[in-house]
Amino acid sequence: MEKLRSFGYICPKCGKAVMAARSTFALSAAAARIECECGKAEMDIETDGTRFRLQVPCGLCGGTHTAECSADAVLRGRGIGLACPKTKQICCYVGEPEQVRRSMEELALRTEKEKAGDEEAFTDNVIMYEVLSELKDIAARDGISCTCGSREYGIRVRRDAVDLECRRCGGRLRLPAATDEDLDRLCCQMKLTIRGR
Ligand SMILES: [Zn+2]
Ligand SMILES: [Zn+2]
Ligand SMILES: [Zn+2]
Repeated sequence: MEKLRSFGYICPKCGKAVMAARSTFALSAAAARIECECGKAEMDIETDGTRFRLQVPCGLCGGTHTAECSADAVLRGRGIGLACPKTKQICCYVGEPEQVRRSMEELALRTEKEKAGDEEAFTDNVIMYEVLSELKDIAARDGISCTCGSREYGIRVRRDAVDLECRRCGGRLRLPAATDEDLDRLCCQMKLTIRGR
């Protein structure tokens, strides 16, 4: 029976895991193209006999990456994973069909989780919004300063807290921003003092 090699990636347009197998014979003979069902993304595979050039649509960063691999790596062995240069994570698998299928299932799951994580950037959106507007009020009455004497600071918003960072000494004040109590605590403060270094 003809030996098969699988190619898998996540479609950057529709988010689906795309997988297809080609025979090693067909692969060594001619270019191949693996399209997503949605018709908006395709992986191009070309070879000169000793090397393969792959154009991989990347479901992680949304771009297209060009990768060069030896024919040996593409056609034989357990397979390879190609990393997205932007996210440094593997976005494409090539190899034995069973191996690629398993890796792709993991990749699809991970990509989905990350997307879900993006939507819920904060523990509590309402509390975070209130905390930030309260901070704006305190800042408006010049109530934020550092023990080093500076009044220049930066704001870093995290998932469940806001950090105020002194621009001069790097001192930091963390304000929790996840619960009603966090908000209450902030609302009764006229001034915020960053502890300098
Ligand atoms: Zn698609
Ligand atoms: Zn990428
Ligand atoms: Zn300071």
